[in-house]
Amino acid sequence: MASTVHYWAMERRTLISGALSLAPLMTLAPLVGRGAVPSSGWDFVIVGAGTAGLPAAIFASRRGARVLLIDVADDIGGTMHMANGQVSAAGTRIQAAKGIEDTPDDHFEDAMRLSMGLADRDILRTTCDRAPEMINWLLDNGLTPIAEHPVTGSNPGRPAYTIPRYLWAAEEGPAILAVVRKQLEPELASGRVVTQLNTRASGLILDNAGTVRGVRAKHAGQSLEFFGRHVLITSGGYAMNPELFEQLNGFPAYSGGAYPHNQGGGLGLATSVGGWLRGHELHRAGTGNILTSDQFPARVYGRFNTTPQARPPWEIWVNDHGQRFIREDEPESYNRAMVLLKQPRLRYSVVFDQEILEQAPIGMTGWSTERLMSHFNAHPMFHAADSLEALAARAEIDADGLLATVEDYNAGVRRGTDELGREHKPLPIRRGPFYAITHLGSSATSSAGIVVDKQLRVLRGNGEPIPNLYAAGEVLGSGATLGNNFIPGFMLTPALTLGRLLGESLPIGEQRSSRLAPS
Ligand SMILES: Cc1cc2nc3c(=O)[nH]c(=O)nc-3n(C[C@H](O)[C@H](O)[C@H](O)COP(=O)(O)OP(=O)(O)OC[C@H]3O[C@@H](n4cnc5c(N)ncnc54)[C@H](O)[C@@H]3O)c2cc1C
Repeated sequence: MASTVHYWAMERRTLISGALSLAPLMTLAPLVGRGAVPSSGWDFVIVGAGTAGLPAAIFASRRGARVLLIDVADDIGGTMHMANGQVSAAGTRIQAAKGIEDTPDDHFEDAMRLSMGLADRDILRTTCDRAPEMINWLLDNGLTPIAEHPVTGSNPGRPAYTIPRYLWAAEEGPAILAVVRKQLEPELASGRVVTQLNTRASGLILDNAGTVRGVRAKHAGQSLEFFGRHVLITSGGYAMNPELFEQLNGFPAYSGGAYPHNQGGGLGLATSVGGWLRGHELHRAGTGNILTSDQFPARVYGRFNTTPQARPPWEIWVNDHGQRFIREDEPESYNRAMVLLKQPRLRYSVVFDQEILEQAPIGMTGWSTERLMSHFNAHPMFHAADSLEALAARAEIDADGLLATVEDYNAGVRRGTDELGREHKPLPIRRGPFYAITHLGSSATSSAGIVVDKQLRVLRGNGEPIPNLYAAGEVLGSGATLGNNFIPGFMLTPALTLGRLLGESLPIGEQRSSRLAPS
């Protein structure tokens, strides 16, 4: 992406006192091949030119702010490159055109209900209040949702709103990015916004009073420093950092399905200056994904339909101990996800026999029987054997546990009862060959994140804000906006909305007013 480099006088450079006065009196940060980007004089230094960072830059620049967008990638856009693009708001013009009555209050109540009361009320409140203007802005500037939208939810059995307010374009996340990119163009051309790509923010610069004054960064082996009035951390989550993921969530990060640069660097920036994290316990992983392997960065290879409304189950699900842990026709995806979290290694296997294979509708979404058969004992997640004992060995399931479970289940099928309350149990599991398909609970988002107040100021452990430091987007943790559930559109929507709000609210120049609620 072409960048516009703008130079201006250095008299706006922030004076740093004490130890940090030893910081190099650098005014220009050298940049290979395109001149130099000023080191100081920025109103906003934004770490992460993605979903939250770009609206922040656009709306700050529209007010005349000077904005530096630092990104480790070689392009702007972040997760918008790959997201499904699903957003939601109450009071959009697309709702009005279809006569749908809705309010941010209703949206807030609905979203809090879906989050099981676990989302951050202030963040949700602000998001619901400001999301309509953000989505109307996208719609006004070319986002074209699918004709039937807005809707209440996406799939049966997944959490849904009570009022249709959920929408996305056929081109998904890239459609949002296209709008945002277009809106950024005039700000880049004006010279008020400058991008500093291929540059990793590696630290924050504090003065003696503990006020954040800037960002340290690395570009092509060079150390750089950028000074600004406000530093925004909009660097996304940590789903692509398996060590940090396991450390923060206590589960293996099997899947590498998130934006590659979501390495959690922003969490480190905040904690390095006293910020603290929350939401470790709000990790959520769904049932149904079949990954390429159990080694990070596995990809989603296929889907086994675990939604009973769409395909009632014929198989049993067992954990590594060979034990069933839920009625397989549990209708709520939330309940399935919560019980999965309690299984060792977030792992379970769908077990069935030849008779079920022949009679049941195929479980692998969109697959033929031939395709399925070609995977058994040829793909690490698909196992087949002539006996249940041999199947258990192949699928790393406790054999005694599996044998006992199958016996119990079959007895229940004969009696017409089930100890876990399952209703759909058409056949016992009795005739080999036997089959197992291994599922791993995985997630493309990260639940833990930086604690902020309602003004999005990064807080210290004692609850005091760290002066000049703000955060928005997934770096706040999915737990802040979703709790431990899925809420339609409530990762992209808060990132875009709160990023924009920071851009249009934080004081620049002589302006002191803020549209953010007082703390
Ligand atoms: C496959 C997929 C589909 C999704 N679909 C949806 C959906 O439909 N609806 C929804 O609500 N949510 C969805 N999400 C989640 C949502 O897209 C993200 O939570 C959201 O886009 C994150 O926005 P962000 O601004 O926090 O991070 P990003 O958009 O990822 O931006 C962060 C930026 O920071 C940069 N960066 C990172 N570290 C540094 C560093 N140290 N220095 C400099 N730059 C850095 C990155 O390169 C990146 O450009 C999806 C996620 C995935 C992975």
